[in-house]
Amino acid sequence: MITKPKGTYDVIDREALKLKKINRYIDYYCEFYNYDLIRTPIFEARELFHRTVGDDTDIVTKETYDFKDRSDRELTLRPEGTAGVVRSFIENKMYGSNMPRKLYYNGTMYRYERPGNGRNREFTQFGVEILGSNDVATDVEVISMPYRLFEELGFKNLNVKINNLGSKEDREAYKKALKEYLKPHLDDLCEDCKKRYENNPLRILDCKVDKDSDILKNVPSILDYQSEESTNRFKKVLEYLNYLDIDYEVDKTLVRGLDYYDYTVFEIVSSENILGGASTIAAGGRYNDLVEKLGGPSTPCMGFACGIERLMLAMDEMETIEKRPLDCYIMYVNEEEKIKAITLAQDLRMSGVSADYDTTGRSLKSQFKEADRLHAELLIILNSEDLNKGLINVKDNLTKEETKVDENEIIDYIVSR
Ligand code: ATP
Ligand code: MG
Repeated sequence: MITKPKGTYDVIDREALKLKKINRYIDYYCEFYNYDLIRTPIFEARELFHRTVGDDTDIVTKETYDFKDRSDRELTLRPEGTAGVVRSFIENKMYGSNMPRKLYYNGTMYRYERPGNGRNREFTQFGVEILGSNDVATDVEVISMPYRLFEELGFKNLNVKINNLGSKEDREAYKKALKEYLKPHLDDLCEDCKKRYENNPLRILDCKVDKDSDILKNVPSILDYQSEESTNRFKKVLEYLNYLDIDYEVDKTLVRGLDYYDYTVFEIVSSENILGGASTIAAGGRYNDLVEKLGGPSTPCMGFACGIERLMLAMDEMETIEKRPLDCYIMYVNEEEKIKAITLAQDLRMSGVSADYDTTGRSLKSQFKEADRLHAELLIILNSEDLNKGLINVKDNLTKEETKVDENEIIDYIVSR
């Protein structure tokens, strides 16, 4: 037997019902919030991720699926969604008019990670990007939108962690201070952090190995190294979050695992026990330099990405999800009745009624059982004798009441029911 690759999973049965519900909510809410759908390729030029996510981030150094195609092109399965959206924004010249562009995506991502609870190698992210606005109202929309969506999905104990990375200049000043502070402790940091110290010291704050050490707990605060402008901007973000009734907690060590962020960064954390160490369900931030870095015009942007599998996991704790009952189950025995069954099913389905019938040669008695298993609300019991008189038998599966309906009025009758 051939089995699925490590770190991947099939979505079936209950999981599929949860996924459908989540996707339905995503599509609804993105419409309410005025986001347009974007779909970009699952693989992109490898360089795209090196230039955006960052050459010495965990994602690029350890986690990408890189391959060459038959013409020796260097390609990478996308580990995240923002890089592709920004590439598309530039390539399709979406800038210029109609700013800001508000886009959302929902698709699979690939990271070579150690699989575990809420951590897969193929996983799904839903995310939004607002391209072309530096207004703090966009920062708070991108934070509050997933927050409210998760609440609607039934999440109760959500926590927003927020931080301000400031401008590039602010970060340079902070990096210097951070390196000075860390210098005497270098030997106590993990091997990766020793490398990060030179190339990308901010990354040390995101280290999963050292995160609970006293050294990292006492680092200088990035918020003390910011210009007045950055500080005021952050104050405004927090003020607007208050207006929208979003609870938050400022976390001065939050830096996120990707290189392109500046100013506001945030995570939404769920306290559902089942998530364990995978409690961050969405994360994002502002990336004002990325479009320019990829060759487009200077365009301030803000976005987030949310792990769909983590939502699915947490939903287990919150509700029982059941398949919607079938509207109609159509029963037949002979060939004449069968032809009526398949045509009637088609007509009902085209009229917005869910309908099905047996295709495995079940006896009439087993068809009744199958109808119950599908929680069918109405049973259409065809028989040649009635059909010859132009009549169709409809039985309410709950009250058991039976009605004979004129064949010409059957669709209207069922729809009205
Ligand atoms: P983590 O700290 O959990 O590794 P991350 O910083 O790598 O997360 P992002 O790159 O910001 O995560 O991705 C945004 C969201 O996507 C995460 O908050 C999480 O919900 C989800 N996610 C990230 N990696 C995985 C994965 N391997 N499997 C499932 N979901 C994931
Ligand atoms: Mg990660």
